[in-house]
Amino acid sequence: MSRLVWPTATLLILTLGIVFATVLWTSDTANENAGNRQRVQLMAALEQTLEDFEGRLAAISPDFAPAIAAPGGAAPSRRGRFPEFSGAYLLEATGELVPVAEPEASAEKATFLLDPLIQAVRRNLETIDASAPGVRPRDLAVSRLIVDGSSLVAAAALPAALDGTAKPSGRLPIAVAYRRLSPGDLTKIAELHGIDGLMLETGAPSGERIGLAMRDARGNTTAYLTWRPERPGDLMRERLVPLTLFGSLVALALFAFVIGYIRWIARDLARSEEHAQRLLGRDPLSGLPNRLLFSERLDQELARLSRTGGGLAVMFLDLDRFKDVNDTYGHQAGDELIKKVAHRLEDLLRATDTLARFGGDEFAIIQTNVRTSHDAEALARRVLDSLTQPFEILGTPVTVGVSVGIALAPENGLKREELMRLADTALYQAKSEGRNRYRFFASQMDETIRMRKTVEDDLRQAIEQDGLCLHYQPIYSADGKTIVGLEALVRWPHHKQGLINPARFISIAEERGLVIPLGEWVLRRACQDGLRWPGLRIAVNVSPIQFRHRDFVTSVMRVLKETGFEPNRLEIELTEGVVVEDADAAEAAMMELRALGVNLALDDFGTGYSSLIYLRRFAFDKIKIDRSFLESMEATGESAILVHSIVHLGRALGLTVTAEGVETKEQHRFLQALGCHQLQGYLFSKPLPPDEIDVLLGLAPRTEGASAA
Ligand code: C2E
Ligand code: CA
Ligand code: CA
Repeated sequence: MSRLVWPTATLLILTLGIVFATVLWTSDTANENAGNRQRVQLMAALEQTLEDFEGRLAAISPDFAPAIAAPGGAAPSRRGRFPEFSGAYLLEATGELVPVAEPEASAEKATFLLDPLIQAVRRNLETIDASAPGVRPRDLAVSRLIVDGSSLVAAAALPAALDGTAKPSGRLPIAVAYRRLSPGDLTKIAELHGIDGLMLETGAPSGERIGLAMRDARGNTTAYLTWRPERPGDLMRERLVPLTLFGSLVALALFAFVIGYIRWIARDLARSEEHAQRLLGRDPLSGLPNRLLFSERLDQELARLSRTGGGLAVMFLDLDRFKDVNDTYGHQAGDELIKKVAHRLEDLLRATDTLARFGGDEFAIIQTNVRTSHDAEALARRVLDSLTQPFEILGTPVTVGVSVGIALAPENGLKREELMRLADTALYQAKSEGRNRYRFFASQMDETIRMRKTVEDDLRQAIEQDGLCLHYQPIYSADGKTIVGLEALVRWPHHKQGLINPARFISIAEERGLVIPLGEWVLRRACQDGLRWPGLRIAVNVSPIQFRHRDFVTSVMRVLKETGFEPNRLEIELTEGVVVEDADAAEAAMMELRALGVNLALDDFGTGYSSLIYLRRFAFDKIKIDRSFLESMEATGESAILVHSIVHLGRALGLTVTAEGVETKEQHRFLQALGCHQLQGYLFSKPLPPDEIDVLLGLAPRTEGASAA
């Protein structure tokens, strides 16, 4: 829009400028034309005056004859006979200038004034054949306007008579006359032609006045006939300028109006677009805001948050059995369920909160005024409570569940996309943990999800193609000097993520059913490697899922047979989870393994149920005290007491007691004093690749490459 305003305004102003200039130019031209026309008219009028004067002189010049007949003086009797003349003379053939009418000036003055005329008539007489038949004195007449002092003088001369014998010698009596034009005379001439304020001025016309140059007897310009010219342009200007101004104002007003109108229309359009957007921002089925509107609201709330502080929660909800409802009762039931869910949720929220439906069975909430995570937790609980109550759908009670993922601002960030992504991650986590629960986003969830994807994509291939490797952590005797065994710990060298530790992928492998091939691979590789280290026990971790698999014992037997590894050098580390769930089956498998000569260790002792019953019932050879006890031992005396009693318990039951995670000399001294049989931890050695174990055991020379590996 504004792209149009400036060019249009410029064009308009330019046009108005041109109109103004045209008016001014036209009026100036009109003024000039009028002045010129008056000048021409005045010249014609003066011409006419001279003509008249000449005619008058011609008519009476024969009366100058008595002066010719009676030379020697101007007869007084002729006085007043020619009242229109200021002076009249007869120039005789002798050259004498004889006054005919009362001369107002001296003869010398008259001669000066009239001489140019007389000369001209003489020249006429010489050049024109005055003796030719039909030539009249008038034909040879000369007249002129002459400036004399401060007055304008009309003067004429002509041969007083033509005797027919006259030779072109110029020697004929010549009649001359002049008349001073009074201001009254001038006015009369001017009035005839509508010329205003005509007067004789000595200087060139100034100001508004214009004029005609006038000559003296010598032909020099000495004065000007000036007048106030007619100025039709002024009138034009007077009338057109206001008109144009008015027109311009009207045009400007019109322009402003049009611009304003266009703006108004644009605003109106924007408003209706906004309205449409608002309508568009709704989910048609539930009438709730959709993802777009939700995002907008979240942006607004986050902006408010960064101004005023406080907190909010973004919750993503996913109904747990919606698909079943749709499949069982049809889409109409599904729609009804969505509407009812929307109603129940709306009842739980405050006016400042936002509930949205993203489509399908996905809902989202912006909870405002969240001071601590407890506020969000309380709402999440209410949501779970409310939605797990049965719904009446098409006359049948229907039960669904809901999973909720929660992200908090500002704790988890202040960016909309980020918060939505984190809430989604938390939702994913809640769902994968078994539905009908809420989960706050925690930073490891991101990692879990990424790892889950990596495991899904790459782990199977790594197992099949020997892409995994084992590190071994030595287990020492209580004095920390003799290596009595090695614990095999799996590692996954990933082409993108580097060396991945088992804690990051074992549980996912368990979920994805990959832990069985993985466990079998580890067992086989550990037995193969173990052949290199005669006399040492090799401990292998076995996941409960792997252990519960009905083929587990068979696969152990197969591996032992294939590799030729002595069963009594194999130690299987199990966790309490193994024995808790299906105790009978576990017991049977353990008995079979014992029968083979395989040793069994209870790993991570103290973290689970740690019931004495299990220790009595199941045929473990060893307990491994979880390293978390050692970690907190210094901090709380309670842990030290626990470790103390575990060691004594184990010893009393005839089990080998191993402590894991020994990192300090103090821990070592303490455990040794307690009577712990075996020790394992970074204080003695980290898990190492087989080559370095060789070095440690003195089976291979210490080399740069080996220690760096
Ligand atoms: P775990 O069986 O308790 O193994 C001991 C873990 O503690 C190892 O971590 C080891 O590197 C670490 N560790 C040893 N000494 C110290 C110490 O002094 N300080 C500290 N902070 N840590 C120490 P890793 O190798 O990451 O293994 C983690 C867990 O993954 C193992 O715990 C085990 O439960 C599981 N795992 C490892 N390999 C396998 C496998 O082949 N199969 C199965 N099913 N699980 C395995
Ligand atoms: Ca272990
Ligand atoms: Ca352990």
